[in-house]
Amino acid sequence: MPIRISETPLIEARNLKKHFRLPGGWLTGQRRHVYAVDGVNLDIYAGEVLGLVGESGCGKTTFGRMLLRLIEPTSGEIIFAGRDIGKLNGNELRSVRREIQIVFQNPHSSLSPRMKVEQIVAEPLLTHLSRAGIGSISRQPGLPGMSRSEIHARVIQLLEQVGLGKQHLDRFPHEMSGGQCQRVAIARSLALNPRLIVLDEPTSALDVSVQAQIINLLDDLRSRHGLTYLFISHDLNVVQHISDRIGVMYLGKLVELGPSEPVFETPLHPYTRALFGAIPLPVVDQKRELTILDGNVPSPVNPPSGCRFHTRCPLAQPACSQTSPEMRQVQPGRFVACHLV
Ligand code: SF4
Repeated sequence: MPIRISETPLIEARNLKKHFRLPGGWLTGQRRHVYAVDGVNLDIYAGEVLGLVGESGCGKTTFGRMLLRLIEPTSGEIIFAGRDIGKLNGNELRSVRREIQIVFQNPHSSLSPRMKVEQIVAEPLLTHLSRAGIGSISRQPGLPGMSRSEIHARVIQLLEQVGLGKQHLDRFPHEMSGGQCQRVAIARSLALNPRLIVLDEPTSALDVSVQAQIINLLDDLRSRHGLTYLFISHDLNVVQHISDRIGVMYLGKLVELGPSEPVFETPLHPYTRALFGAIPLPVVDQKRELTILDGNVPSPVNPPSGCRFHTRCPLAQPACSQTSPEMRQVQPGRFVACHLV
């Protein structure tokens, strides 16, 4: 079934920042911060997969977690379906959280080792549909909103949607493979019929053959349920395969954003060119332009002035260290933050 991508954003990040305060500095009066995310504007449209890439420490995971308010932003706005999530509390926030779910990188650490698969997948249903809490599935015969047998049937249905079945209900995570555990985590994320799922490196901890199965499963679930994904990964091949658009982050800033194919084929930002130039092409004798970057990624505690990439950029000009480039639309749907593009 063709996937329809809406023209209105499902979620909008407006000048989103997260500055983690470092301990110490009381005596000197110099409070230091990690500028993990520093003024990101990004819209995700209903029905699309937005891939977010960048080196470790660029802020992509922090950005994804802020969308669910698992990490509270320092400043900025997150508008989900027209509502500013930052201003919600209590029941209103709970109701929005039903619509945004997350799948973490390592299923063995994100799933409770003491809970069986049935409890793990039923947990969101119990938490959101009853005031009784998780322990109730084995004790409480009926829950407001859903009966115990309805929850049991729903858990089996969810497991079947991710390629598992009744035979897995009584297993603990340590009795399953990494791929099966990630399927359980995906089933749990689907339990409340979310609209947006943040996939935080969902295949990085898996074998290559299992990665492909999980990607195909995510693709299939997306078209069946009309889901929207924020797909965070440092695996550029996987991102290219699954994403409709790609955002590239460097040191807490978004530096390039655009449709997947042109961004991969003709990256415009010098950092994106260096990042994607390292991907081998599947065609013999065909090579990408390879840019070797000098030095390491600077510390997010003391990021460079002006353009944050200027300390490593092969095209840097004197002005680049003075003025921070704004994101500008340079082609239809393509945005780049660079003075020279
Ligand atoms: Fe390089 Fe300057 Fe562009 Fe930054 S603004 S990416 S330093 S050319």
